[in-house]
Amino acid sequence: MNVMKKTLFGLGVAVLAGQSLADNHGSAWTYSGESGPEHWGSLAAGFELCRSGLTQSPIELDQANATGDLKVSVDWAAGPLTVSNRGMTVQADFAEGSFMTSGGKVFELIQVHFHTPSEHTHRGRTYPLVAHFVHATDEGTLGVLGVLFEQGEANPELAKILDAVPSEASEPATISGVTLNPNGMLPDEIEVWRYMGSLTTPPCSERVHWHVVEDTVTASRSQISAMEGLMGHNARPVQPLNNRLLVAPES
Ligand SMILES: [Zn+2]
Repeated sequence: MNVMKKTLFGLGVAVLAGQSLADNHGSAWTYSGESGPEHWGSLAAGFELCRSGLTQSPIELDQANATGDLKVSVDWAAGPLTVSNRGMTVQADFAEGSFMTSGGKVFELIQVHFHTPSEHTHRGRTYPLVAHFVHATDEGTLGVLGVLFEQGEANPELAKILDAVPSEASEPATISGVTLNPNGMLPDEIEVWRYMGSLTTPPCSERVHWHVVEDTVTASRSQISAMEGLMGHNARPVQPLNNRLLVAPES
């Protein structure tokens, strides 16, 4: 991980995962009420894109204006489990050495965090849980791979995260003797919706390369409930597509 990515990673606490610890002062944002998503853009000067941005995320996926089997390849490695309760999300951080290649760009996996319910919708439907795998190129361009969970069999990798995460907000802690294999939260086939979007939390920064995987994985009812208990409802409502290319997988 080079210097730029380390810097980005350092920012990750606030930028990529949602501010949640006690020191977020006047720019505190939430998922409801006066500091909820419709007000994010006026909570702080740096949050303006949340209101004025034209390429925001999440979006409804059933409005694609192109189809294509875009080549996205994932080459992730198992590694130590480093987990934190960010208050508004649960996050696991990755050691260097895991990659996603998309559109000729190589992105390195930084962290995965979760939302209940899913943020992207399909035909108006949300899924009970989504994992956002956040990657960055050496230049700091972000690429996210979203994996949707349906209720079903328990997911063993999610179980490791849930067993380790504190019930109160916490800093990242590496759990000795536990290996997280992110591939265990991926479906066998990776066909994606692909578009250019944004962070789904303030400051809603744009130029994020978004990928949402068509096939789903499963989590048990108790795993989904446990995630909801830790994070609450942490899904930003869908944003207008505007004049963007949204490529759907060929069916
Ligand atoms: Zn997210």
